[in-house]
Amino acid sequence: TSNHYDVIIVGAGAAGLMCAITAGQRGRRVLVLDHANKVGKKILMSGGGRCNFTNMYSAPENFICSNPHFVKSALSRYTPWHFIELVEQHQIAYHEKKLGQLFCDNSSKDIVQMLLRECDAAGVTIQTDSPVQVLETDELKLLESPQGRLQCDSLVIATGGLSIPKMGATGFGFELARRLNIPVLPTRAGLVPVVLDDHKLKPLVELSGISVDTVTETDSCSFRENILFTHRGLSGPAILQASSYWQPGDALKIDMFPDIDLTAYLTEMRREKPKTALKTLLADKLTRRVAQLWCEQWIEDKPVGQLSDSDIEQVVSHCQPWTVKPSGTEGYRTAEVTLGGIDTDALSSKTMACKDHPGLYFIGEVVDVTGHLGGHNFQWAWASGHAAGQFV
Ligand code: FAD
Repeated sequence: TSNHYDVIIVGAGAAGLMCAITAGQRGRRVLVLDHANKVGKKILMSGGGRCNFTNMYSAPENFICSNPHFVKSALSRYTPWHFIELVEQHQIAYHEKKLGQLFCDNSSKDIVQMLLRECDAAGVTIQTDSPVQVLETDELKLLESPQGRLQCDSLVIATGGLSIPKMGATGFGFELARRLNIPVLPTRAGLVPVVLDDHKLKPLVELSGISVDTVTETDSCSFRENILFTHRGLSGPAILQASSYWQPGDALKIDMFPDIDLTAYLTEMRREKPKTALKTLLADKLTRRVAQLWCEQWIEDKPVGQLSDSDIEQVVSHCQPWTVKPSGTEGYRTAEVTLGGIDTDALSSKTMACKDHPGLYFIGEVVDVTGHLGGHNFQWAWASGHAAGQFV
């Protein structure tokens, strides 16, 4: 009948559309439903409007998941090169920005258009403005939609995570899972700026907008990237990356001089340029304003020739590393991703199907898989969508 589909996919984002294309190409009758008024809103806003659609070096190490092996199967069957090939077939101009990160030359719209064209060619039906309710998940799945009752053999949940509620993010996938006793690991904001409490922040506020190249470390990982001072705390790629590993109470260790041993350097300068002001030396690397502030707050500025060994130790203790304890993160309002989600133990890594609910699939960000910054989150969406699309 007309209200019966082989596959219904809830969520017309990155993962849902890729799954639809793959299934449609196999000849399945596919319907994609989204409650938003248009598809792929997060794709459109991603990468500052240019969509960092994959990363050439994407590998299992770039993903956070309670079972690190889970991602391997899907990622190896749909690699960044598969997606790049698709982008090239559609003659979308792109470039590497840095570190393997591929962006559109023009606009994220190119990626959404490409996905829609592929859906069209594969005979996929897409309906926006369609909030749905899942009524039954037995062999035949039953949904209530604004168009009435719908039935399908395979139901794919691709509703994403909780970040940026303004863009239509909901807890739909997590709520459905809980209702069906499918385990959901605790969720929290990832790839998100951190905030500092008032007394720590106060002196730093005037640095808002300045970036410094660092190695930023948490207990379990380290990232060589810029930090950015903001009016509420810290951001920039190094901080966003570290935020996905950060737990309340943890400190961040920020090496402000990633390429040198600062103790050795200052000792050498004490000998070779004794008249140079400490502030001037630090400014070479930290920028003038950061060096100035560090000297006002924590370090006494004097000609380097006058630094004692313990003075040098003191300087180093505020720079290599500079240790900061964030009071929290900016939360889902500005987070790029959601950590945690559907426990991968409940899913097949090959097909993304629920082990205990035949014909029910979870793909994309709703699953407990979170990529590093730099195109890895889309790569997971493409790969997990493709994996499910081969079996639904
Ligand atoms: P989504 O793309 O979020 O799609 C979920 C879809 O489900 C949405 O269309 C939504 O409307 C729909 N939906 C939600 N709830 C319901 C419901 N109840 N009923 C029906 N439909 C529903 N990653 C990168 O790799 N590179 C980047 O450059 C990048 N930039 C980003 C920038 C920002 C500002 C943000 C917020 C994220 C960025 N990300 C980036 C992360 C990336 O966007 C996500 O990881 C990715 O979109 C997840 O794909 P998904 O298909 O699982 O979910």
